[in-house]
Parts: sequence; C-alpha cells; structure tokens
Amino acid sequence: MSHQHKKQFGQNFLNNQAVVDRIVKAIAPRADDHLVEIGPGEAALTGPLLDRVERLDIIEIDRDLIPRLTQAFGQHPAFHLHSADALRFDYAGLVKNDAPSPSLRVVGNLPYNISSPLLFHLMTFESAIIDMHFMLQKEVVERICACPGSKTFGRLSVMMQYACETEHLFDVGPDNFTPPPKVNSAIVRLKPRRTRTLNAEDPALLSKVVKQAFAQKRKTLRNNLKPLINAAALSELGIDPSMRAEQLDVEAFVRISNRLAVSGQDGAKQPNTQNANQTNENQ
Ligand code: SAM
Repeated sequence: MSHQHKKQFGQNFLNNQAVVDRIVKAIAPRADDHLVEIGPGEAALTGPLLDRVERLDIIEIDRDLIPRLTQAFGQHPAFHLHSADALRFDYAGLVKNDAPSPSLRVVGNLPYNISSPLLFHLMTFESAIIDMHFMLQKEVVERICACPGSKTFGRLSVMMQYACETEHLFDVGPDNFTPPPKVNSAIVRLKPRRTRTLNAEDPALLSKVVKQAFAQKRKTLRNNLKPLINAAALSELGIDPSMRAEQLDVEAFVRISNRLAVSGQDGAKQPNTQNANQTNENQ
C-alpha cells in the first residue's frame, strides 16, 4: 500500500538511487559504527546503511510508517526503531555504557520545517556525537557554512561554527524527491569541535550575545549590542563598534561573551554600571 505523503512532517522522499549512493559514500559508514537516522521515511537511506553498521537507531515521528519499517527491517540485528519526535529525543540515552565517548554518528534527510531547532537540540548532545550528515534546504546549508563578511553569515552560522566544523558537501535538486520540494537541497557535514582556540565560558551567554548582535541586520554592533555591552568595552576587545555583526568572526563573538561573563551587564570594567550606562547612551 502506498504511503500518503504528509506535508506537516516535511515528507519529501528520495527517489534517486545515485543520490542515495552518494550520500552513503559521504557518510562512509564503518562496520563498528553506531548510526542514528532521523526521519527514515520509506527507508531510502535506512536499507543501505543498515547492512554496513553494527547498530542503527532510527527515529520516526509518523506512526503510519512504523509498521512497514518494522516489517522490512525488524529482524535485522542492527535495527532499533524509535517511534518518537526527534526534537524531544534523548540522544544520550542511546549511548551504551561501555561505548567510547563520543560514539554516535547522526544522519538524515531532515524535514526542512524543523531543521534549525533540531540542530540546536542535537548540539546539546554534542559530547555524544562524532559527526552528523544532513540533507537540508540548500539556503540553510549556505548559512551554516557562510564566511564572516558574506551576506548569508548570521546567527545560525556563528552558533553552528562555534559548535562544529562545517562542510557543504554537495547539492541535490528537487527532482530527486517525491514529491519535489519547492527549494534546492544540499548535504552538510558537521563535526562537533573537541578543541578550539577560545571557549565560551558561558555558552548560553554566547547565544544571547549573537542573537542580540544580529537583532537588526542593518544596525551597527554599537546599537544592537547596547543592551549588553557599551561601545568602549567593544573597542577594548579590539572590535570596531561601527561594524555590523555579519563582519565579525566567531571568535570575536566569544570574546564579547567572555567579557560579559566576567564583567556582567554592559561589559564595563568598573562595577559602577549605573554611571557607565549613562556615559554609553551618548556613545
Ligand atoms: N529519509 C527519507 C528519505 O530520504 O527519503 C525521508 C526523508 S523526509 C524529508 C523527512 C522524514 O522525517 C519523514 O519520514 C518524516 O515523517 C520524518 N519526520 C518529520 N518530523 C520528524 C520529527 N520531529 N521527528 C522524527 N521524524 C520526523
């Protein structure tokens, strides 16, 4: 019986074996891998992956797809099905006690409508994840991988590049899906960073700074960041307050957030923030 595609679950299923093969090649599964596939759908990727690895956990929200997935693969020793929402899923719960850390390789042709919240949810489990390979809307992949100074560099670029090494692998046109989406797609590789030159002392504060810096794209850092840090403090960090957020590199955002982590609101070195605030209004 054919499956009725559900728009609310972003169901655009891969229909081209050559594209499936190219994605599997990019993932390069190894026999002892523990893969997690988000949104198997009609199993275009699931089948080819299952035969190559020790364990494959799949997470599918659409209950209508569960019986056919169980019927097709239920007997396979590597197959573990979770009828669940990937946005609420506890990925750390999949890690076996004796597994090396990190141990999970996460893959999926993701539903485009939830890709950003899903990426942010996954990043809360980054210590359990070796790498991720995702099909996303091409525009989202471009934003994730954008360089500072480019038009597409924004909040998603900074947060994803802080968390991961990012790589735009290749594009996939709409004709390779049934039904065809209205947008182009691309495959991205994300590898959580284990080390970096500058760590954010408070990652939640980094996220707040980045959100505020990009609050109004046309405004300067001086204006966008006014509620958090004054222009003098930005200059002390070697950051020109007249620049726009899209011109800063990731490390500059971390410097701002670490300054705030130490000095508190306003970024002023002096604890007398009331006076500092008054001065800042005129800067
Ligand atoms: N992997 C299949 C393929 O490439 O042909 C299907 C990809 S389709 C773009 C997205 C899949 O994710 C669908 O099977 C959909 O039901 C599932 N999905 C959508 N939202 C989900 C969620 N929140 N959690 C888990 N699966 C979800």
